[in-house]
Amino acid sequence: MSDPVRVRIAPSPTGFAHLGTASTALYNVLFARQRGGTFTLRIDDTDMERNRPEYEQLIYESLRWLGLDWDEGPDKGGPYEPYRQSERLDTYREEAARLIKDGRAYRCYCTTEELEAERKQAQLEKRAYKYSRRCLNNPPEGRTVFAVRFKVPGGDIKFRDMVRGEMHFDGDLIGDFIIIKSDTYPTYQFASPVDDALMKMTHVIRGEEHLSNTPYQLMLIDALGYERPEAYAHMPLILAQDGSKLSKRKHPESNLALFREQGYMPEALINYLALLGWNPGTEQEIFTIEQLVGAFTFERVQHAGARFDWEKLNWINGEYIRALSDEELARRIKPFVPQVDESTLQRAVPALKTRLHKLAQAVDYLDYLWTDPHPPAIDGEVAPRVGMAIEAVQHVEWEPEPIEAALEKAVAESGVGKGKFYNPLRDILTGKRVSLPIHFTIALLPKDVALFRLQRAINARD
Ligand code: GLU
Repeated sequence: MSDPVRVRIAPSPTGFAHLGTASTALYNVLFARQRGGTFTLRIDDTDMERNRPEYEQLIYESLRWLGLDWDEGPDKGGPYEPYRQSERLDTYREEAARLIKDGRAYRCYCTTEELEAERKQAQLEKRAYKYSRRCLNNPPEGRTVFAVRFKVPGGDIKFRDMVRGEMHFDGDLIGDFIIIKSDTYPTYQFASPVDDALMKMTHVIRGEEHLSNTPYQLMLIDALGYERPEAYAHMPLILAQDGSKLSKRKHPESNLALFREQGYMPEALINYLALLGWNPGTEQEIFTIEQLVGAFTFERVQHAGARFDWEKLNWINGEYIRALSDEELARRIKPFVPQVDESTLQRAVPALKTRLHKLAQAVDYLDYLWTDPHPPAIDGEVAPRVGMAIEAVQHVEWEPEPIEAALEKAVAESGVGKGKFYNPLRDILTGKRVSLPIHFTIALLPKDVALFRLQRAINARD
């Protein structure tokens, strides 16, 4: 019987919460739920210059919005607390001291300039750079500022990757690397495996950019005498439209808060993210998270990077919107259009439902209700038809269907096609070329306002 599954994500609060964090969290959650395991949120905040508590809050908010809740974390506690790395500095320092005592790490007094000179020399001699071990073999005297370097044992480093299979790295190619910086803070390369081991992680599921870090981290786990996680999984990178790696810095659109603001539904984004890099092996494209928990396997995760496809996300989001009941859709749209009263919104929903990809698009369709568009000038040919429209609708019940019936009659009498008859009305009422069907556009406005706008356009000609 193997140990209960324990997995984690370790986001750094150095900017907005981004898509990559959501994607990694999702795969961890799917695996943890599949195996009845525990999902931990560890905050990787050892970069003292770039961390901000408000960024940590954004991580919490985004993950909660997506429904990717964690079992252990800084805000929840748990058996291996603290879960914020900045609160674990003593542990890293003690573990580094233990490595030094065991002869597996050493103090390095080299200055940046000296290291730069070494690197340049290697370049000149066209050999791959590795630290010279000067401070191991022949430490300088009288210096006090030092970093701690791990003495890389070399040799073959093997591990099981659940996506890529058996992995091998040649440890002889890895130079002694820094585990504690001269400011006494640990490097990511050190803090991460120490915590993975002490927090008893059984599986490490993270982005592919960390694949090359795994041999470094495994050597440290071995040197410290900890048990290794059973397996790793390195998930495909998310690529931007142009094929470059989606990054916080270069791609502000990867900000999770923006997805929420534009009205992507969390369930739809989860569904999309699962399919981005994983293939269910069937034609099915719409999955609830429970279905994903049942269907997900690492064997079906692709190795290559996964290009973000807005069109597909929009399609999936639209499918989720159309699957909602009218009441639920109205509830979800409401925060985007606080100016619109409940009953108007409820009447708009059936027309919105078939048109929206994103909830925020409701604003484009409905803002004519609380703004007054500048009436376009209409010509002598159009004006009589606007008059006919006023005639037709002014005595019918103020609901979409009766208005539609009355307008259709007027169109038939006018001798022009529907488009020619309706487009000027749309323009006058909304100031836009695209709107909800004309009978909804009219019915959603209070009757006096609709008639006023139409009459005003005629008067403007007189
Ligand atoms: N802070 C790292 C990141 O956000 C954590 C990587 C890991 O999971 O080890 O990429």
